Amino acid sequence: MPRETILSSDDSWPEDESESTLGSVQPERNSEDDIALRPKHMNEMVGQRQVAERLRIAVDAASKRGEPLGHILLDGPPGLGKTTFATCIPRDLGVSLQIASGAALAAPKDLLPYLTNAEEGSVLFIDEIHRLPKAVEEFMYPAMEDFRIDITLGEGVNARTVNMNLRPFTLIGATTRTGLLSAPLRDRFQIREHLDFYSLDELMEIVHRNATKLRTVLDDHAAQQIARASRGTPRIANNRLRWVRDYATSRADGDMTGEIATAALDMLGVDQLGLDPQDRKYLETILRVFHGGPVGVEAVAHTLNTACDTLTDEVEPFLLRTELVVRTPRGRKLTTKGYEHLGQSPPGETALFAS
Ligand code: ADP
Repeated sequence: MPRETILSSDDSWPEDESESTLGSVQPERNSEDDIALRPKHMNEMVGQRQVAERLRIAVDAASKRGEPLGHILLDGPPGLGKTTFATCIPRDLGVSLQIASGAALAAPKDLLPYLTNAEEGSVLFIDEIHRLPKAVEEFMYPAMEDFRIDITLGEGVNARTVNMNLRPFTLIGATTRTGLLSAPLRDRFQIREHLDFYSLDELMEIVHRNATKLRTVLDDHAAQQIARASRGTPRIANNRLRWVRDYATSRADGDMTGEIATAALDMLGVDQLGLDPQDRKYLETILRVFHGGPVGVEAVAHTLNTACDTLTDEVEPFLLRTELVVRTPRGRKLTTKGYEHLGQSPPGETALFAS
């Protein structure tokens, strides 16, 4: 059975969410700190300005018309704010929220309690929606389009289909892979938004705000170091901030200065571009084992003994964005910048760092 989370529009939206059931959905990343750091309303979110602006207009229009908000699909690499948007939107609308994960909805019957429990105008958030099995996806179609489900009772010749009306609701789907969603499901979302990596300034602002929430002192230089080491991702910025805070507490008087941040991040093996050891291992494998590519991602995954999904969802997006690798029809290939970052000359060039 999937785990169900229901937050109602009134008393179940505590100021301090650490007591709420929100944490039950993804225990691996919802520590108390995580919940405390997550913005509660869209106007507290940093960056993603255009996406937030469009969503605010849709939320505002739905509120003014007293109609449910159209279904929303959010896509982008992990840690960029999909869940944050999905939890802020119902709070801004003043409606309840249910949270489910695509991976846990194995059969239509698993989805049934969420659909029948959905209050008028409420939000159902399905994380990793690309992992819904086909049968569950097809069961969703009439629910999304006409707020109706078709339930088959009995078997064989005695089987009959019963239609059941649902209260109008809003589905928010999040995915790291829009490419894996079937076209009929994708087309049923009225609003589709892609979340991109955050700029250094935006990450610095997040780090500053979150340091205050964690009641610690942080100087500008430290915030910049942490932002630079965060691969454009707020979740990583939060993790780095907590690490630097621990380091400052253990090795110094608790104040996070630029020097302390540099020493703490060096210890994690994070380099100038913010790449962590896993990123560098990926680049080094392409260089050393596959002579700079092109190479299929499966071959790299096998060599690194890592799941292919981890590489495509978590490692590659930032490396592609920073132009250290490119995806060609024949596979992944190191760019000149990629070679240079590893201290190597690209093929055909003799001098180190020659352009
Ligand atoms: P995703 O669902 O895309 O994997 P989350 O929404 O869970 O990512 O974001 C991870 C963490 O990053 C959140 O707990 C929050 O603290 C922080 N975060 C994400 N987006 C923002 C933002 N726009 N402004 C401030 N913090 C953010």
